[in-house]
Order: sequence, then C-alpha cells, then structure tokens
Amino acid sequence: MANYRLNLNQQANGDYEVHENGCTYYPTQNYDDLGYYSSCALAVTAAKQKQPSKKINGCVHCSKSCHTS
Ligand SMILES: [Zn+2]
Repeated sequence: MANYRLNLNQQANGDYEVHENGCTYYPTQNYDDLGYYSSCALAVTAAKQKQPSKKINGCVHCSKSCHTS
C-alpha cells in the first residue's frame, strides 16, 4: 500500500497527475490527498470520482502503468 496524491496543478497537456509517495514529483502543496491504495489504477479511479471534471492521469515516473497520455 502507498499513499497517493493528486497534483492540482494542471500539466501542460491538460492532465492532472496522480503520484505515489516517494515520487520526485509527489506534490507537497496544492494537492488532493487520495489516501492509501495497493495500485495506481485504484488511486486514479478514486481521483476521477473525487474530481469528475478533471482529466486525470498517472505520473509517468511513479505510476507508469497508469500513464496513458
Ligand atoms: Zn509521480
């Protein structure tokens, strides 16, 4: 299990990225704390439910299997 956070700073391509604790880009300000999940897929799903109007994606560095764009 790892703690995941959604970075509320929008990326240049319009995405909002989910990061796992320990990632170089794990947000320390302007984020939504998603909680603990066993996989980035579950964290991304939770982020989409909390922020349905945002385009959510996994971070390419810490959540590569969830990174789609
Ligand atoms: Zn990351």
